Amino acid sequence: MEKVEELISEKEILAKVEEIGKQISDDFKEGDITIVSVLKGSFIFTADLVRNINLPVEIAFIAASSYGASTVSSGELKIRYDIDIPVKDKDIILVEDIVDTGLTISRLKEYLFELGAKSVKICTIFDKVERREKQVDIDYCGFVIPNEFVVGYGLDYNNKYRNLKNLCKITM
Ligand code: 5GP
Repeated sequence: MEKVEELISEKEILAKVEEIGKQISDDFKEGDITIVSVLKGSFIFTADLVRNINLPVEIAFIAASSYGASTVSSGELKIRYDIDIPVKDKDIILVEDIVDTGLTISRLKEYLFELGAKSVKICTIFDKVERREKQVDIDYCGFVIPNEFVVGYGLDYNNKYRNLKNLCKITM
């Protein structure tokens, strides 16, 4: 049986999400925002974040996996579910649950530029900086976390634990 221990409480997470939402609202006050949420893990963060942004937001979802050695400049991207709205000439915020090696998010950013996005900012609630293989600028980051396998607040282990309200480390 897995052992699950809290790393970050629900209260701390919600306070941070509110802060990020305010920051995004300030930074984008001149224009519209298109949120591209990376499934499945970021569905809970996205739901909380968009309700803390007081500007018009368009929301789209994408699901992808990236493969590739760190020595390859960008891993190969496999899109499993694609966005269903046009992104050409739009200001995009790519919303992730966790950035680990950085391969997935950097390929997704390139993909959105290939589709004609005007700008792409990256927003993640959790960041395992220590594990980075591909340098990527994170524009909005909730928490830098230690190199542990984590679950909760949208993140799973074997498709379970996504519904935990806090972030937990899991050990087998
Ligand atoms: P990257 O391309 O940055 O290595 O991969 C990021 C993806 O790996 C995340 O979107 C997430 O799906 C998965 N991932 C990385 N670290 C963890 C973790 O600690 N827990 C869970 N549940 N998924 C993780």
